[in-house]
Amino acid sequence: MDCIFCKIIEGELPCYKVYEDKRALAFLDINPVNKGHVLIVPKEHHRNFLDLPKDLLKDLTSLAQDLAQNIMDGVGATAFNLTANNGKEAGQQVEHFHWHVIPRFANDHLHHWPGKTFSDEEMKRFTMTIRKSI
Ligand code: AMP
Ligand code: ZN
Repeated sequence: MDCIFCKIIEGELPCYKVYEDKRALAFLDINPVNKGHVLIVPKEHHRNFLDLPKDLLKDLTSLAQDLAQNIMDGVGATAFNLTANNGKEAGQQVEHFHWHVIPRFANDHLHHWPGKTFSDEEMKRFTMTIRKSI
């Protein structure tokens, strides 16, 4: 399988490793949004959030919680974003699930996503169609 993250996990490609355990590896993003931008990946290949076995998701999310403060402390950040892109249209480039931990700083010039406006009727419709699909 031609997966960059599997190759990093296998040691075939280098990385700036910050943490490793039995099930996960954490390393610096090669094209960081901010200093200290870390990716947390499972050692097993799973395409995205929806494909992850629940016990592995729990471990990875718990690990993200454990590492977030250390990552912030390590680069002097005061906040962080925890995010995962799922699917091409959401910006996922590497189809091996990963949490992004992105340290944030005052005045780091990263902006939040712009909001869109929908009518009350549309908002009610979205609510109904989502509720029906649950
Ligand atoms: P995503 O768009 O959520 O799939 O994120 C993939 C991330 O992996 C991007 O932020 C890339 O900069 C990062 N990336 C790609 N190749 C490498 C690599 N060899 N080592 C570290 N990070 C990488
Ligand atoms: Zn992989």
